[in-house]
Amino acid sequence: MTDHKADLVVLGGGSGGYAAAIRATELGKSVVVIEKDKVGGTCLHRGCIPTKALLHAAEVADHVRSAAHVGVTAHFEGIDVAGVTSYREGIVAKKFKGLEGLLKSRGITVVAGDGRLLPDGAVAVGDDVYRGADVVLATGSYSRSLPGLEIGGRVLTSEGALALDVVPERVIILGGGVIGVEFASVWRSFGAEVTIVEALDHLVPNEDIVLSKALERAFRKRGITAKLGVRFAGVTQTDAGVQISLEDGAVLDADYLLVAVGRGPATAGLGFEEAGVTLDRGFVTVDERGQTSAPNIWAVGDIVPGLQLAHRSFAQGIFVAEQIAGLSPASVPEASIPRVTYSSPEVASVGLTEAQARDLHGDAIVAVEYNLAGNAKSEILGTAGLVKVVRVVGGSIVGVHLIGDRVGELITEAQLVVGWEAHPDDLAPLIHAHPTQSEALGEAFLALAGKPLHAL
Ligand SMILES: Cc1cc2nc3c(=O)[nH]c(=O)nc-3n(C[C@H](O)[C@H](O)[C@H](O)COP(=O)(O)OP(=O)(O)OC[C@H]3O[C@@H](n4cnc5c(N)ncnc54)[C@H](O)[C@@H]3O)c2cc1C
Repeated sequence: MTDHKADLVVLGGGSGGYAAAIRATELGKSVVVIEKDKVGGTCLHRGCIPTKALLHAAEVADHVRSAAHVGVTAHFEGIDVAGVTSYREGIVAKKFKGLEGLLKSRGITVVAGDGRLLPDGAVAVGDDVYRGADVVLATGSYSRSLPGLEIGGRVLTSEGALALDVVPERVIILGGGVIGVEFASVWRSFGAEVTIVEALDHLVPNEDIVLSKALERAFRKRGITAKLGVRFAGVTQTDAGVQISLEDGAVLDADYLLVAVGRGPATAGLGFEEAGVTLDRGFVTVDERGQTSAPNIWAVGDIVPGLQLAHRSFAQGIFVAEQIAGLSPASVPEASIPRVTYSSPEVASVGLTEAQARDLHGDAIVAVEYNLAGNAKSEILGTAGLVKVVRVVGGSIVGVHLIGDRVGELITEAQLVVGWEAHPDDLAPLIHAHPTQSEALGEAFLALAGKPLHAL
């Protein structure tokens, strides 16, 4: 057994873990990252990046199909899955190489291996033991299933969906949240018949209801079927396909079933509780500083209850590294973390939905909607959609909600507005370049300030 010492030992080299490692080295700490697979984690290898590459290929396919509409002669012949995969993997490989180089250049030691927390707070990897003055747990998450629903064969998680070497002719997606919606969008653009089954009454059910309804309309128009408010009952599979039954008695046939019902924390069997780290339904309980119940052991990312997003993990990693270094960083406010569903159309939001704002502030809430039909750039791009802005009467803007192609890029401005608790009167004088989709936000701010321009 060999003992190694460092100021900080990070267990898991995904978004949260490597962000903590980089920030800690910037603050003069020696850092060891223990990673059993590849640094970059879910987001880089199996999540954000490969799925966004797929969505881009899907967008190109849609543009080719509709090229004649803008007077461009093109003919859509089909999807070369091997070509899409090599494009996608090329991007991931480049970013992976870049990240490895970055960690190396910062002097971070990356140890390849399966780490386990020991009762005294050190981390064991095989016969080696890594002792840090502080330890950051960042072991991420895994694709969940439903009780009795076994993954395998033609029943896939998002990892299996990424590994498919065909475009399914017919596919059923269990779960109308962000991952289900993104795969539905890709597969439809690639030519598949897609059915989403969602137990709740709406797609993207955590979003403001106007976005859910607008997405449902857009998907209906694209030929994506959504079975809402109905529960999955069971699945049987053969070599040729799957048959899914629903609790309302419906039976659906398809080539594959994608299970996209959420992600659970990857914390089981890692020695966390034995080391004094309290878990709640598998998630690590932390205080407002990101510290677990065990002294000098911190946790970040998907294992901490809340939004499971890469940029939240980055922010928490930086925050915790700064705490460890003795700084007093501002906390990461869950409420102003931007959320984007990168489908076609995109759904993006930050802050409170109108319903949440009303729960908090009663009737002292005003919301305006601006339809992208009035926005020239959206007309040029051929996208429908809307912007909804929620404010407290006489007070600040507390929520911004967007739907339409490319609106994910607008969430940055919305985040500043909500994060800085801006009032519409502060924003009204700020000029949005014409013609951009951001003007739709500007129009909503003007309307809230009582001086609408291109709105009623
Ligand atoms: C299909 C899909 C699409 C997504 N798209 C987006 C998106 O567009 N935008 C977005 O913000 N988020 C997206 N996410 C979510 C995002 O990937 C996660 O929120 C993010 O990766 C969480 O970071 P993390 O550091 O907590 O965990 P991870 O990135 O999962 O990293 C954890 C790391 O720890 C390692 N590890 C685990 N246990 C051990 C151990 N015992 N020893 C050593 N190493 C260990 C793992 O190998 C892994 O590398 C997506 C997720 C999926 C599945």
